[in-house]
Amino acid sequence: MCGIFGIVGSKRKELGRTLLKGIKRLEYRGYDSVGMAALDKGKIKVKKAAGAVDKADKKLNFSELKGHIGITHSRWSTHGGVTDFNAHPHQSCDKNITIVHNGIIENYEEIKSDLIKKGHKFRSETDSEVIAHYFEEKIKQKPIKQACVDFLKEIEGTFAVLMMKNDEEKIYALKRDSPLVLGICEEYNILGSDIYAFSDRTDKAVFFDNDEFAVIEKDKYQFYDTKGKKITKKIQTFVWEQEESLKEKYPHFMIKEIMEEPRVVKRLLMSLKTDQKDNFNKFIDMIIKAEKVIFAASGTSYHAALLGVYYFHRCSDVCGIEAQALIASEFEHFANVDSNTLVIAVSQSGETMDVIEALKFAKKRKAKIASMVNVPYSSIQRMSDISLQVLAGQEICVAATKSFVNQVTLLLSIAKEFGFKINLDTLSERIEEMLAKKDEIKKIAKKIYKNKDLYVLGRGLSYPVAREVALKIKEISYIHAEGMMGGELKHGTIALIEKGTPVISLISNKDYDMLSNTKEVEARGAKIIKVTNEFDGDIKINTSNDGKFGVLAAIFGQLLTYYMALELNLPVDKPRNLAKSVTVK
Ligand code: GLU
Repeated sequence: MCGIFGIVGSKRKELGRTLLKGIKRLEYRGYDSVGMAALDKGKIKVKKAAGAVDKADKKLNFSELKGHIGITHSRWSTHGGVTDFNAHPHQSCDKNITIVHNGIIENYEEIKSDLIKKGHKFRSETDSEVIAHYFEEKIKQKPIKQACVDFLKEIEGTFAVLMMKNDEEKIYALKRDSPLVLGICEEYNILGSDIYAFSDRTDKAVFFDNDEFAVIEKDKYQFYDTKGKKITKKIQTFVWEQEESLKEKYPHFMIKEIMEEPRVVKRLLMSLKTDQKDNFNKFIDMIIKAEKVIFAASGTSYHAALLGVYYFHRCSDVCGIEAQALIASEFEHFANVDSNTLVIAVSQSGETMDVIEALKFAKKRKAKIASMVNVPYSSIQRMSDISLQVLAGQEICVAATKSFVNQVTLLLSIAKEFGFKINLDTLSERIEEMLAKKDEIKKIAKKIYKNKDLYVLGRGLSYPVAREVALKIKEISYIHAEGMMGGELKHGTIALIEKGTPVISLISNKDYDMLSNTKEVEARGAKIIKVTNEFDGDIKINTSNDGKFGVLAAIFGQLLTYYMALELNLPVDKPRNLAKSVTVK
């Protein structure tokens, strides 16, 4: 989480504006606070404040910062509250060292108490501040490059660090587990948490690998390994669609991204027949060769994976693919992995730390790694033996919508290869029809947005969707929502149903069991919202196919959540406490 951005070689008067633009492009990664440091005429000036970029900018006027070198950070707090002091950058006591950090320094307490004994004074409660004091202390005894080698040896935890010194026109960059990439431009160099930081300026990037550091200057750069030996890195050229990030005519990115779903589904399906065809075939081959498939995913991606399991198990009348989905943060406790296992990572950002950890665990046990990611060139993609692009395009709203739809579409495309019955050519059209029901869905939102609790029930394929709809409601509307198996309700949770409690019931096909579960809560006074393709309901889904029902019911939930959040006047695109890319454990 958190976005970091740095530039070496800016035009002096443009520095503040460039930093501002850069950090805005990364703000979706975290927005608790924002800060900048600019080196001008041998002096580093720092401005920082709690709050999202626009709010902090009004107070501090970042654009007036001048110089040729600067770093900036938008924070998703892990250690220490959301305050001005805890905002990055942090500085050493002598203000010679200035840093921004993404990640967690796990042994910061030991280091901090050591440094305090040596007389250092700390101004924040963050783990990150130790980095500045650590270097201040080290460079009293040795050159800064040697100090970087020590840092990689002595620091435990995860980090992408950008560091400036008062007397040098350089940025020092260090990385372990948190994402960091160098963008190579004609007259300057840029560092960012992901390629989106600079995709409007260059298509040339060098990705940091773990335990590397680099010294970046205006017109050159050098990477080093853990021993401080020079290493040569490959420059990658990437392709990125620029127009994705413009909000166009929509008031929020969330609704813009939902409305893009028919288009991105088509794009994905086309790519599987063209530029992703070889990789797709290899992916299928790896599934055939594996004894079992285990998905590793978190949040919304986990719900897509769970749907994938359902589809994979129904690939043929006899027997499908042996598959299981695990929440990535618990992977090592619940996965039984060996060299015949194919682990499929599902991640929008491709940087989700919990997923990366699960993959490391699986790799140690010699499992093969496949992945489905939306952000190209991400860490997870680079850790995988094979990777498919989800191709939903840049997703700015923190809550995943179109990326979920494309993850499921990709899983359905794979399941189809193994015999799952679906005509994917009409999926985009069905989605258009679902989106056309937005006014009906808005009416439902108006009826239920004032409730404090609600329940979403599903059975079979609609169970993962029920969980996804509930998650969306929690994230964006701040309403407590539980997504449950219809059959499980009577084993406890039904005690919470009282007169007027909204219960959204997702009933696919002629699922009479699900219908009975719905009746059971109705009998206890629940206000039922029935989403169904076969029975009478509040929202009718136009498909008899299990695969499509999953996607369409989830889209119903996305629209419902959006309209509830609007009624509640909530910050749809940037919900509190969340960040788009979860790069801490
Ligand atoms: N651990 C650091 C903090 O809480 C960095 C968090 C981040 O990655 O934004 O300030």
